[in-house]
Amino acid sequence: MATAEQYRNQASSLSYRNQAFIGGKYVPAASGETFDCVSPIDGAVLTSVASCDKEDVDAAVKAARAAFESGVWSEMDPRDRKQALLRFAAAIADHREELALLETLDMGKPITFAQSVDIDGVVSTVQWYAEAIDKIYDEIAPTGRDAIGMITREPLGVVATVVPWNFPLLMGAWKFGPALAAGNSIIMKPAEQSPLSALRLAEIAAEAGIPDGVFNVVPGFGEKAGQALGLHMDVDMVAFTGSTEVGKYFLKYAADSNMKHISLECGGKTPNIVFNDCKDLDAAAMGSGMGVFFNTGQVCVASTRLLVQEDIHDEFVEKVKKVAETMQPGDPLDPATLMGSMVDVDQMERVKSYIEIGEKEGASLVQGGKQVRQNTGGAYVEPTIFDKVDNSMRIAQEEIFGPVLSTITFRDEEEAVRIANDTIYGLQACLWTDDLNRAHKVARRLKAGTVNVNDTDGGDITVPFGGYKQSGIGRDKSLHAYDKYTQLKTTYIKLS
Ligand code: NAP
Ligand code: MG
Repeated sequence: MATAEQYRNQASSLSYRNQAFIGGKYVPAASGETFDCVSPIDGAVLTSVASCDKEDVDAAVKAARAAFESGVWSEMDPRDRKQALLRFAAAIADHREELALLETLDMGKPITFAQSVDIDGVVSTVQWYAEAIDKIYDEIAPTGRDAIGMITREPLGVVATVVPWNFPLLMGAWKFGPALAAGNSIIMKPAEQSPLSALRLAEIAAEAGIPDGVFNVVPGFGEKAGQALGLHMDVDMVAFTGSTEVGKYFLKYAADSNMKHISLECGGKTPNIVFNDCKDLDAAAMGSGMGVFFNTGQVCVASTRLLVQEDIHDEFVEKVKKVAETMQPGDPLDPATLMGSMVDVDQMERVKSYIEIGEKEGASLVQGGKQVRQNTGGAYVEPTIFDKVDNSMRIAQEEIFGPVLSTITFRDEEEAVRIANDTIYGLQACLWTDDLNRAHKVARRLKAGTVNVNDTDGGDITVPFGGYKQSGIGRDKSLHAYDKYTQLKTTYIKLS
């Protein structure tokens, strides 16, 4: 790892890709419009980025469709497509430091995690789906002897991925990894707050041999570029990660256009239940703190609702406070920093307003709650802990997307499960216990796509990830996600 000083030097000599990438080339927005890309580390304008609109989306869809129909990728032999994606993964790994630096400058996350979580995660995701390509078999149905029923998976065609800013490349990779593996052409719409890494990645893809038109990026605003993708008559699927509110728009866009496939990874309000039979309360406190403060709480699965059994409440909250103390915001370019800035000033103000709401609602603020490092010009908020929260309060029901923990006390298993499930979300739930029977029984009753036992962020690429209830539709990761980017064709052959 380099030092903060070295990262600052690298940052000052970086050149940013700031135009759309369509059909293998960087192009300005047809309108000529741009928007400022601001670093939340210090408020500096990094560059001006093309602001894509319907016309640019049309061009990207044309390029993606032409590439798809040409067969240059969609009909490539599986073993060759595998090799191409492995080369792509290797090229991403070669640019690990640069891509991580872009994530850090653009959205404020600590450089250490940008490398080890974001970019390493992108590399392993692309590798995993590349490796899968020539190991997935199609099916023959158990028909009578007078026919052969072939069931084959075919790519959908043009897949758009509309992604948020909290893990800009990684959320994209969970989608373009399997989508490309299945033979689709993709168009990525990064969040307006963090477009830089996706724009650079497009060029890396081209250099690694991904054919022109297969990997396109249209930066811009949701209401323009995002909506144009959602409403496009020639986009076959939108794979979305973002808020529940915007996720619902995509269901409407599909209904108002061509009935495109929609998959949604949306918000969460993870309950994290700590039972009094958990023996290692230090590990539980570390997991609880990291689970909510990691990435400055800007994580869909952030364990924002801490449910503690009443007899260990005082002891446990003290332990979590100690963890929070070790996670004070620092310079994101310093490799020792565990907590960086919020993604931008708007998000910071939103978090501060929720802290005010919590106090007005009568919760007790026991740690943090303030903006810090004001002299930097950046957007930093302390790790914040509320105690005596009632699950009906807004801070317990609404997704804050910041480093704010709500502590709720419960008496018994029954009450814990009831409170945990009392939310519109169902992305993840966590529980800490040393009783194996309780772990299984409670896990079954929790309405969430992922249940973590004795952890807050378990899971890897081999297991599906996604939400129950209003946390989404469909799953990322694992071969279940691969299936999502294909459609089944039945070819029924009569034998005479
Ligand atoms: P967001 O506001 O919903 O935006 C997500 C993406 O949709 C962005 O690219 C955005 O573009 C675009 N968009 C916004 N409004 C749109 C519209 N009217 N039509 C079409 N597209 C539109 O979410 P965010 O603030 O970037 O990210 C935070 C949210 O993501 C949280 O709710 C979090 O829980 C969720 N998230 C979920 C997961 C998961 O796997 N379940 C993972 C990470 C994050 P702009 O950049 O212009 O706004
Ligand atoms: Mg930015």
